[in-house]
Amino acid sequence: MTTTPGSWKPATLAISAGRPPHDPDQPLNTPITMASTFVAGGDREYGRSGNPTWQAFEDALGALEGGRALAFSSGLAVVSTVLDLVGLGGCVVAPRNSYSGTLLQLADLEARGRITTRLVDVTDTAAVVAACDDDTALVWLESPTNPALELADIAAIAAAGRAAGARVVVDNTFATPILQRPLELGADIVVHSATKYLAGHSDVLMGALVTADDELFSVLKGRRELLGCVPGTFEAWLALRGLRTLPLRIEKAQANAVELARRLSGHPALAEVRHPGLGGIVSLVLADGAFAADLFVRATHLWVHSTSLGGVESTLERRRRWKAESPLIPEGLVRLSVGCEDVDDLYADLEQALDSLG
Ligand SMILES: *Cc1c(COP(=O)(O)O)cnc(C)c1O
Repeated sequence: MTTTPGSWKPATLAISAGRPPHDPDQPLNTPITMASTFVAGGDREYGRSGNPTWQAFEDALGALEGGRALAFSSGLAVVSTVLDLVGLGGCVVAPRNSYSGTLLQLADLEARGRITTRLVDVTDTAAVVAACDDDTALVWLESPTNPALELADIAAIAAAGRAAGARVVVDNTFATPILQRPLELGADIVVHSATKYLAGHSDVLMGALVTADDELFSVLKGRRELLGCVPGTFEAWLALRGLRTLPLRIEKAQANAVELARRLSGHPALAEVRHPGLGGIVSLVLADGAFAADLFVRATHLWVHSTSLGGVESTLERRRRWKAESPLIPEGLVRLSVGCEDVDDLYADLEQALDSLG
């Protein structure tokens, strides 16, 4: 791999990191290496310990987040690998409005007596800091949270977590390294569902983590190999292809989201329009609750009614249709994943769908 100057900006790193060297006849892109085994005597040996195509994705993501990355089979595979670092009886402090899959894993581990949890309101920095005591093994943060869109003061909470002797983890799926780099704010590990913005085209399931701590990197790499939660090679290639345009997609999706939030606020069918000014996710709360929200998501033509987020195509869903979603999320909340289409077309479709509820 070519060396990447530390002075390069994210828009340059997203495009240039993780490339083969600029030597005659080298391909510009790292090819898909289909291999379960490698000739003995090197670092890889077996396909569960590494692959050149994963490595190219990891080099690019690591450069963007400011650490060393590891690719996994899904975002939840990363969550389980990181939670597996917590020893028996250790306490995990986490946002009460974390991604539902993360909350389910925490509840499952707690129910089986493996860990204890303290769920906190991440917007209340003093309360989160107070929750970090000597028993705290891990502080889990998500900011903005999915789908409540609450923001945490990552630097203040990371400092408190570290002072208490805990590891600090930030799920950066929503903001991506283009908008927020948690390692620079004091986090030990950054977690991604690469399924979302990093891959960005609704065609890949993959996860990743990043850390700047070499010892922790070796531990986590060892855990990935032991647990076997490794990505497919084609998935890693697609995720890297998506990552090349991450800065462009985030810029467009965020600009669209800001404009849609502005135009939608005050619409009589809406009780609330949430957008933290950051990223491409907007949450709408329908004034007439679940029934109106269910009609709304079926009345759009351009916006696709589907789960997941972070693709170039705009999608929307009522989150409480899932039994696993937290009861703290309003029944009438519809999460919009704003894509890269023309903003006038996006707005016109939402407006006709809202007006049809009349
Ligand atoms: C989707 C998501 C995950 C889980 O990732 P998968 O790739 O679906 O396993 C974790 N965290 C957040 C914030 C997510 O949105």
